[in-house]
Amino acid sequence: MVSILVVDDEKIMRDGCVRILGKEGWAVQTAASGEEGLRLLREDPFDLLLLDLKMPGLSGMEVLQQVKDLHSHLLVVVITGYATVETAVEAMKAGAYDFISKPFLPDQLRIVVHRALEKKALQREADLLRQEREKGLREIAGEKSKIKTIIHCMADGVLVTDHEGHVVLHNPALVRMCKMETPPPLGELLKDCIRDVCLKDFVERIRQIREGSSVSQEVVVGELTLMAQIAPVRSEEGEILGAVTVLRDISMLKAMDQMKSDFVAMVSHELRAPLSSVEQQLSVILAGILGEINLRQKEMLGRAKERTHALLTLINDLLDLSKIEAGFVVQHKESAPISGVLKRVVEILTPQAEAKNISLTLQLSDVLPNVTMDTGNMEEVFMNLVSNGIKYTSEGGSVDLFARVQGSHLCVEVSDNGIGVSAEDLHRIFDKFYRVKNAQTRKITGTGLGLPIVKRIVEAHLGTVEVESQPGVGSRFRVYLPLEPSAKGEA
Ligand code: ADP
Repeated sequence: MVSILVVDDEKIMRDGCVRILGKEGWAVQTAASGEEGLRLLREDPFDLLLLDLKMPGLSGMEVLQQVKDLHSHLLVVVITGYATVETAVEAMKAGAYDFISKPFLPDQLRIVVHRALEKKALQREADLLRQEREKGLREIAGEKSKIKTIIHCMADGVLVTDHEGHVVLHNPALVRMCKMETPPPLGELLKDCIRDVCLKDFVERIRQIREGSSVSQEVVVGELTLMAQIAPVRSEEGEILGAVTVLRDISMLKAMDQMKSDFVAMVSHELRAPLSSVEQQLSVILAGILGEINLRQKEMLGRAKERTHALLTLINDLLDLSKIEAGFVVQHKESAPISGVLKRVVEILTPQAEAKNISLTLQLSDVLPNVTMDTGNMEEVFMNLVSNGIKYTSEGGSVDLFARVQGSHLCVEVSDNGIGVSAEDLHRIFDKFYRVKNAQTRKITGTGLGLPIVKRIVEAHLGTVEVESQPGVGSRFRVYLPLEPSAKGEA
């Protein structure tokens, strides 16, 4: 309920105010002097004070002064006599909200008090809004500093760039990992801040993110191996605003992986020579060069030779993979036609296809620009894909090779109408040692290393490999290799 205090030395005025304002439903208290008024104000926070300026003892002006110190928000309406309009103006300068001159009509008093109370309500609303805003700002500031602290303390490097490649945010881990002498200034172009040649390619990837989806890339900076995950930052409308890059130090993992690869390479290497010799000696015995062998001996020795051969294949694959993982691939890049590679592969594998009555065809589109590649490695890619096609296709089936230009890439397709791969196996067949296990594959020997080798060689050529397959229908592998810049221009 609205509470009003009337301070006036004239009883008739006090009674009049109580009567008029009481009718409005407001709680009215009175005081006959300034001193009494101040005492009541100390006890209760009133909504409005009606204050006579001319009183014996403490004057209205003095009360006004003290009231402002007590309750700065209390609205004060001063009551003045005829001759004291100037004093009213002075009182308003001292902080009173309004004034009313004596004598006044009840309506005049009601209007002045209503106006003052409206002002009071507006003031309260404005206060509430201000408090809400301040609270909101405090919360935002708190959130911001929380996020800032978290990013600052992260062990992973964080870098945010805008769509033009300007640096927007980074943390100390990034500066440390990229071996920067000083943190890159915000707003600078990233390519101007990073001078390390090893990081140039990585900066280019960040720039290219504007055109595509997230990428992961290993980056070597000095003795550190970093895994960079670069993802686009999109607005709610899907527009790319920039890129966020997280760098993780994987040097330890790399070192452990290297130790494992070295061990595998060493063991494989040591096993290869004695096993080859065993295979050769078995061949000699089987050929009957050392004397006649009976059918049973032939059968057993034949199986032993088959097993030895499978072991040698595994060892050769392991050695290949170790070489690839150690970075010893794509060492002799040259501009060469893919047709030569594909023709050689078909020539080598035709006897294998014929043995299963499988038709092996090669189709080349008219204009096939050269690609920059290590032809030996590329031969291995298609040897693996085509021999898989033959291996996993039943007698009388077909394996087809088709090469064409597709956009800025050369696309080579190896398709078969063989046993196919189910959806749940399909995403794992490029994993090391993964082999699909079912009734159809049980009798087919393999190492589970062919496709991982394919993938790594293709990626070392900055290409990609894709697969589509359906059980019982067949499989289609597509290898995309980037065209040389001059050929892209022609395309
Ligand atoms: P493997 O030595 O076992 O052939 P790969 O790495 O070459 O190893 O292939 C992995 C698995 O993928 C194979 O075991 C096979 O189940 C499946 N696969 C590969 N190529 C084909 C294909 N053309 N048709 C059906 N399955 C295939």
